[in-house]
Amino acid sequence: NQQILLVQRPQGMPTEADFKWEDIPVPQPADGEVLIKTLYLSVDPYMRGRMSDRKSYVPPYELNQPITGGVVGEVIESKATGLSQGDIVVGMLDWKKFQTASAKQVKKIDPTVAPMTTALGILGMTGLTAYFGLLDIGQPKAGETVVISGAAGAVGMVVGQIAKIKGCRVVGIAGSEKKNEYLINQLGFDAAINYKTTPNLVKALKETCPNGVDVYFDNVGGEISDAVLSLLNPFARIPICGQISLYNLENANVGPRIQPLLLVNKALMKGFIVSDYAERFGEGYRQLAEWLQAGKLQYEENIVDGFENTIQAFLGLFTGENLGKQLVKVAEP
Ligand code: NDP
Repeated sequence: NQQILLVQRPQGMPTEADFKWEDIPVPQPADGEVLIKTLYLSVDPYMRGRMSDRKSYVPPYELNQPITGGVVGEVIESKATGLSQGDIVVGMLDWKKFQTASAKQVKKIDPTVAPMTTALGILGMTGLTAYFGLLDIGQPKAGETVVISGAAGAVGMVVGQIAKIKGCRVVGIAGSEKKNEYLINQLGFDAAINYKTTPNLVKALKETCPNGVDVYFDNVGGEISDAVLSLLNPFARIPICGQISLYNLENANVGPRIQPLLLVNKALMKGFIVSDYAERFGEGYRQLAEWLQAGKLQYEENIVDGFENTIQAFLGLFTGENLGKQLVKVAEP
């Protein structure tokens, strides 16, 4: 058995030296617990925040303790009612190959709905983030223009597809031609902008958003967001989902003052955390699963093989290696 510990707080971009792989014995489940073999684990941008000891909405990871995150695993042995050997479960668990958990810590997955990996993506935390952030805060209406940064990632891809279901013009911003071709040709986005090669982002946005921007779903922050905000329409809505372009900065990156833009456009900008919607997860899950089964939603996964490659997969989020949800495959069922 093995686990991955955080051994020092990263400065800027994390490196492998901030983590340690440790050999540990396979634990025995106590009464009310199951022994779980990790099959897939999720690497997510928000984990970067937890590696620092800054105040945030979740407590920092503790040094010399295992990283925790979304895990899909197989029940190897059960001493808990309601869970049996062979069940596939999902939960917020440790980065370990084998671990015990109480029955309350995990949820059984129904593999007849969709492949188990979707529990970490489109039918899990990232899908729900897209669903509630766009629909509850963004409130897209048919005919409106929705712009999404981080558009070819796990959350962004779902946001764009839901906005298309709602009848909007959808413009994505992502970091490669391959990603943008995928957004347009595969997912039906109306336009996509490569922020890494476009010399003038505002100009490109004006061309692709001739009627201005009604909803800006922000996954990245920074200069990309500065450009989009200059094109807001009256009563625009701006769900602040993530600010990945800032996560590895040690010093604050200060942009233009945006309050006048919000004021004159009577615009709403609102941060949110998916767990704010915990009481409505059932609704979100049912709707996402229905769209998925009806072929109205598609998903993409980028799966790196091997527990030993977990940190590389995590770091790839900050260099744009992934199209869709980034996962690590740890073992076969
Ligand atoms: P993604 O799958 O979108 O992966 C991250 C992507 O961000 C990369 O593929 C890369 O794509 C892009 N990126 C990385 N660095 C930069 C940068 N400096 N500037 C612009 N783009 C960059 O991750 P998720 O879909 O899981 O998460 C997306 C965002 O949503 C994150 O900010 C995350 O923190 C946030 N989030 C918030 C939640 C909430 O509850 N509020 C819940 C889940 C996620 P590219 O090639 O385009 O650069």
